[in-house]
Parts: sequence; C-alpha cells; structure tokens
Amino acid sequence: MCKHQPPCPDALASDGTAARVMVAHPEQGWSLLCNGVVLFDDAGVLLPSGQEVGPRPVVPASRRPALPVPPSVLPPCVAAPTAVRALATAA
Ligand SMILES: [Zn+2]
Repeated sequence: MCKHQPPCPDALASDGTAARVMVAHPEQGWSLLCNGVVLFDDAGVLLPSGQEVGPRPVVPASRRPALPVPPSVLPPCVAAPTAVRALATAA
C-alpha cells in the first residue's frame, strides 16, 4: 500500500502510526495513513485488520516514572509520542 521511499512503518509495527497521512478529516477526528491504519484524534487506532487499539491512558506527569537517561540525551524521535510524529510527518 505504501509507495514512499524509504517505506513507512508497517501497520503492525510499534511505530505504525508514524506512517504518512493519505487522507485527513480533522473535522471528523480521523486520518488514514498510507499503511492502512486509521488514526483518531484521541490517539485511538484502527488497524487494517479491523482490530481496535484504544487510546493510551493519560498518566499525570507526577506519576510517570523517571527516565533512565536525561531527555537531552535521547534523539528527538524517541522523546516524541508516536501520534505527534505521525502528525509532524503529515505537515
Ligand atoms: Zn508511506
């Protein structure tokens, strides 16, 4: 389905929502990615197989475990949430 070079992540890959947006309907709150994933505004995902992956629960910053290394050491793509990367790719 994806014809990008380099190819976008597969729908079942851990970074599957980082694929490029092919069709966006922000007024309806969803986007179709080139790997067949439907990404919803609440970070929910519908895989090409029809399987739903619900939005990840929001954990307050005060309850998040400390990172093992300072964020300044991590590359930007590791520090950014997957959904944000997908949106950045579409821009
Ligand atoms: Zn692609």
